[in-house]
Parts: sequence; C-alpha cells; structure tokens
Amino acid sequence: MQIIHDKSQLKEIVNSYKKSGTAIAFAPTMGALHKGHLSLTKIARSKAQKVFVSIFVNPLQFGANEDFDRYPRDIEKDSQMLAAEGVDYLYFPTAQNMYPDGFSTNISLGEITKILCGKFRVGHFDGVATVVAKLLNQVTPDYAIFGEKDYQQLCVIKKLVKELDIETQIIGAPIIREQDGLAMSSRNQYLSADERKTAAKLYAVLNDTKTAILAGSDINNSLSAARERLIKSGFDKIDYIELRYNDSLLPATSHENTRLIAALWLGKTRLIDNLEV
Ligand code: AMP
Repeated sequence: MQIIHDKSQLKEIVNSYKKSGTAIAFAPTMGALHKGHLSLTKIARSKAQKVFVSIFVNPLQFGANEDFDRYPRDIEKDSQMLAAEGVDYLYFPTAQNMYPDGFSTNISLGEITKILCGKFRVGHFDGVATVVAKLLNQVTPDYAIFGEKDYQQLCVIKKLVKELDIETQIIGAPIIREQDGLAMSSRNQYLSADERKTAAKLYAVLNDTKTAILAGSDINNSLSAARERLIKSGFDKIDYIELRYNDSLLPATSHENTRLIAALWLGKTRLIDNLEV
C-alpha cells in the first residue's frame, strides 16, 4: 500500500488510472479504524480495481467545545490494518495541504443540515460537506462508500453530489456492530467499562421501539417510552430519538420508509445510532 501525503502526487496517480480506464473506489475516514471502516474497504474492493482510503481528522467539522484535540489518532496501526486489507492507496493529507492559509469556502446544504445532529452540532455538516467535496474532487473516484452509521451524513453527501454535479456514485454501507449490538465507532474508546455496558442498551431500545411501532403502537408514545427507558438505563442526556423518513429525514407519521435515529450522551461521549424500520 502506498501512502500519499500530497495532493499533486495524488492527482498524478489518479490521472494515470483515468487514462487507462481503471475504476477507483474511495472510502474517506478520520482514522482510529475498526471493522466498520474495514467493511467500507471491502465494498470498495468489490466495486473497483483500485481502492483508495483517506484519513483526515477534519477540523472544520468539529465545534469549538468538541473533541478535535482528543480524537483518537493512530496512523501506524491504521496503515497496518489497511495494508492487511489490501487497500492500494492511503491518502493522509496535512491540514495545511487541505486548508492552506486564506481558505474560506463553506458548503452549506440548507435544511437537511440543520435538523437532528445539525441542531446540536451547529456547522458540523457544513464542515463535512466542504471536506467531502474537496476529497471527491481530489480523488475523483467512480464510487465512494459511506457508512449508514452516520445516516444523516450519508443523506447530506448524496444531496451534495447531486447538486454539485459530482460524478461519483455514493454507496451506503450497513452498520457494523459489536456482539452486544453497539455500533462500532472510534469514539467508543472514550467509554469507561460501566458506560460501555450501558451503551449496548441503545440498540436494544431501538429494536424494541421498532417492534412496537411495527405492531401498531402510537409513534409518539413509543418514542416517549424509548426516551424514558434510555434515561433509566443510565444514559445521561438524549439529544434526540426520532422516527424519520429515510430520504428527507423529516418527521414520520407512519412507519413506511422510515428509520429510527438517535443521538445521546454517556458522560462526555456522544453516541449516534439508527435502525431501519
Ligand atoms: P469516521 O472515521 O467516523 O469519520 O467514519 C468514516 C466512515 O466510516 C463513515 O462513512 C462512517 O459512516 C463509516 N463508519 C463508521 N463506523 C461504522 C460502522 N460501525 N459501520 C459501518 N460504517 C461505519
């Protein structure tokens, strides 16, 4: 696996593949890799001859009081994992390379970025959209794989490529979970042993709420019951738990084409998860 730091070197490599008609699949990440990330590289491998992964902890998508400084970083371990997975190129740009002095572009996609997580992490999806637009312009992949774990992010990125005429096919990848159901996340490393036990209850509550809604229980009552159970289970704060339509992410009044989607806190750790209904 070749590691690329510089975007002009990346461009040279990408251009040679374009000339020979070699398809490229790409999975952007922030590193601290786990099996969830590796599942994206497996899908990438099934789609194209050459697989590119990027690791970039994007400062633009973190709020002032968020965890940018303490976000886990382990480039040695990450590159070993990617090489073992058969990834062809790891793109690992510096912040200076991505955002040279004077950089001031901000990509904002409107309402879809202001609801759910966007309400609690103001500006987060602008940062995501801006870095993903840059990465897709740099790598110009035929396919880019994003996890359904960050479901709202996936919706934002699909809208981004559609509205900016970016010719990359966006592929959503299923959520990879621990044995007890907790969705894998780099941020799970922050959890204490007790918090880690509590964390698994989120998936159980999502599943039970789904079952209740499918059995005909009132949606609002089911969501209220879920909130109550999560707090009783030991979660400290619920940013939201909602039933939303799959594509628009607007509040759902019946269960067809919907998803339960949640964000909540255990101590200083914010967890997100979702489940198709
Ligand atoms: P991150 O490094 O957290 O920015 O995630 C990079 C990509 O991996 C995003 O597209 C995430 O949605 C995806 N991802 C993270 N965790 C999981 C998971 N447990 N299952 C599937 N995809 C995931």
